[in-house]
Amino acid sequence: MIPSVLPGQPQLHYRDQALYLEDRRLSDLAREHGTPLYVYSQASMLQALAAYQRGFAGRRVQICYAMKANSSLAVLQLFAQNGCGFDIVSGGELQRVLAAGGDPAKVIFSGVGKSRAEMRQALEAGIGCFNVESEAELEVLSEVAQAMGLRAPISIRVNPNVDAKTHPYISTGLKGNKFGIAHERTLDTYRRAAQLPGLRIVGIDCHIGSQITEETPYLDAMDRLLDLVQAIEAAGIATIHHIDFGGGLGIDYNGDTPPAADALWSRLLAKLDARGYGDRLLMIEPGRSLVGNAGVCLTEVLYLKPGEQKNFCVVDAAMNDLPRPAMYQAYHAIVPLDAAAKAPEQVYDVVGPICESGDWLGKDRSLAVAAGDMLAVLSTGAYCSSMGSTYNTRARPAEVLVDGAQAHLIRAREGISDIFRCERLIPPKP
Ligand SMILES: *Cc1c(COP(=O)(O)O)cnc(C)c1O
Repeated sequence: MIPSVLPGQPQLHYRDQALYLEDRRLSDLAREHGTPLYVYSQASMLQALAAYQRGFAGRRVQICYAMKANSSLAVLQLFAQNGCGFDIVSGGELQRVLAAGGDPAKVIFSGVGKSRAEMRQALEAGIGCFNVESEAELEVLSEVAQAMGLRAPISIRVNPNVDAKTHPYISTGLKGNKFGIAHERTLDTYRRAAQLPGLRIVGIDCHIGSQITEETPYLDAMDRLLDLVQAIEAAGIATIHHIDFGGGLGIDYNGDTPPAADALWSRLLAKLDARGYGDRLLMIEPGRSLVGNAGVCLTEVLYLKPGEQKNFCVVDAAMNDLPRPAMYQAYHAIVPLDAAAKAPEQVYDVVGPICESGDWLGKDRSLAVAAGDMLAVLSTGAYCSSMGSTYNTRARPAEVLVDGAQAHLIRAREGISDIFRCERLIPPKP
């Protein structure tokens, strides 16, 4: 039985009952590379990027891909080649950008806990901007830059106190969140930044949350940010060269209806123009919306385990590969690679082999499957591979990027010895 809806995935479709991503039959890739296997569509990523580029046509804009969503080198390379900068949250991510051929001048560095070593590393690389998240960080960054004889380009991340109406773990723009500087403290913080010898004020930023499916939080945050730009400039503290609105646009996991990037931005830009800031350099930091619906994770059914209350479908992918259900009770659609159903349809909880009750990938799913069948877990391009772990000493899956009929292996399957390579046994007693 062919599922009627494949949520949000533009390049995923059945041909003669076999699931394809672009022009590659997924069962072929599963056979060739084994499971679990992440597969990404290059066309989907570029289509998602193009929606933003359309929305910003004719504007001065820097799109900084928030690479924590999916930081595989080939994915970064693709976005770099298509004009993107990167929003990073660690020194490790900066090294990835450089390894993938990204331009450090187009890198912005977010995060509440940048270490001095990371600050030095980013200053040496010549990144475009530090998005500073606290007054304490401001002081330390100035010190570090001054010691290097430099001025660090900075923006202050404002917490606009708007409700992004998303899961509490991925809401970041409310007063109770650890992110950014309270709206009311912003002006004083800019005043302080202007006095510090190791800093150069270049912009202002905010990021209110993730998987946002409504327009209103963005409009509200924009208003609050522009109020601040006005106040900072009216007080003669600094000129705000760029305004960075963060990321957070949601994707369709399960019939979600986020606005399209181009539609959202045409409305946001209308507001920006109406308030007289349309000619500023604009920055955005999309992550999930560029990659989330470009990826699937292929997994094999190991066992069916019928029970009195529940039937379980045990698969070879688990919470270490796909952490979102365990972390946020997130929904991922699960569909068969071969839709020519042979087995009777039943309702299952789809679970992994890990020794945790939280190790489930989908609850109460109607599936017609038998052991040995292959399934695709959908919308797994964002916050899956990059959030994965080796819990239960499970090696990380391979990753394949599909481009039309071509498939590139962009990450080899990890070996078990890779997992414990840095570990040491205790030396024998003398
Ligand atoms: C995670 C993050 C983003 C991207 O969020 P998405 O929901 O993936 O678009 C952007 N900016 C910052 C500061 C982030 O931490």
